[in-house]
Amino acid sequence: MTLYLVGTPIGNLEDITFRAVRILKEVDIIACEDTRVTGKLTSHYDIATPLKSYHEHNKDKMTEQLVELLVAGKTVALVSDAGLPLISDPGYELVIAVREAGIRVETVPGPNAALTALMTSGLSSYSFLFSGFLPRKDSEKMARLETLMNEPHSIILYESPYRVKDTLAAIEKIDKNRRVALGRELTKKFEQVVTLPVNALLQELEVSIPAKGEFVIVIDGQYETDEADMWWHQLSINEHVEYYMKKDLSSKEAIKQVSLDRNIKKREVYESYHIDK
Ligand code: SAM
Repeated sequence: MTLYLVGTPIGNLEDITFRAVRILKEVDIIACEDTRVTGKLTSHYDIATPLKSYHEHNKDKMTEQLVELLVAGKTVALVSDAGLPLISDPGYELVIAVREAGIRVETVPGPNAALTALMTSGLSSYSFLFSGFLPRKDSEKMARLETLMNEPHSIILYESPYRVKDTLAAIEKIDKNRRVALGRELTKKFEQVVTLPVNALLQELEVSIPAKGEFVIVIDGQYETDEADMWWHQLSINEHVEYYMKKDLSSKEAIKQVSLDRNIKKREVYESYHIDK
């Protein structure tokens, strides 16, 4: 009698662990948000375990039923449509009820859209704050963003394609130069992760980022810096090198200066400027 919280792919069906597939085959029941969505995954991996729906609208009733099954000695796996259950998805109440009943809970880790976007974004991964979906109401959304954007941590948000432009515009109102990453269709065929100051990102949204599919927004933290020392903060490495070259430094001298400013290796600046350009 164990409840397994099992991570499933966020787009690419190959992103599932051997353990997740084994557990999904071995348990008595898989509780899932939408049986049609999880049915595609289970049929792809020849998993014959019965599916039961567990979602926002039936979770009170289903929590009771699932706890009864577990108490009767059955094993249950909880999955969501994509990624990790409980993370902007149902499951929290079930975990509480199951733990209260003295039943073991185990997580089988897997993909997650928030961390996938953060890792790819080039924004600081040392310290971050995940805040799920913003409130829908404009005033509440603005207030939440203002609070979050004062934090010295990268901020990760989920957003729907219908509201992504609006949310970037709200971020721009608060700080037009703040660097923001937009992760779109992660792990899927048309994956994009674009990191730019938010005003430039809004322009890209018109041009090269279709407002279709699934989105994660990562906002750079509000770090306490000495403005005078960190004047280059909004520049890419290449723009930073070019800045010095316009001031008549050779490319070698400019690369050295950039590595000193940023406290990174000269080779890293060199590769960015000469190779990745
Ligand atoms: N539990 C999931 C997880 O662990 O990532 C998140 C579920 S939440 C209901 C769904 C939101 O996650 C989407 O609206 C989108 O913001 C984000 N998301 C999920 N898959 C994504 C993907 N492949 N690319 C970009 N964003 C994704």
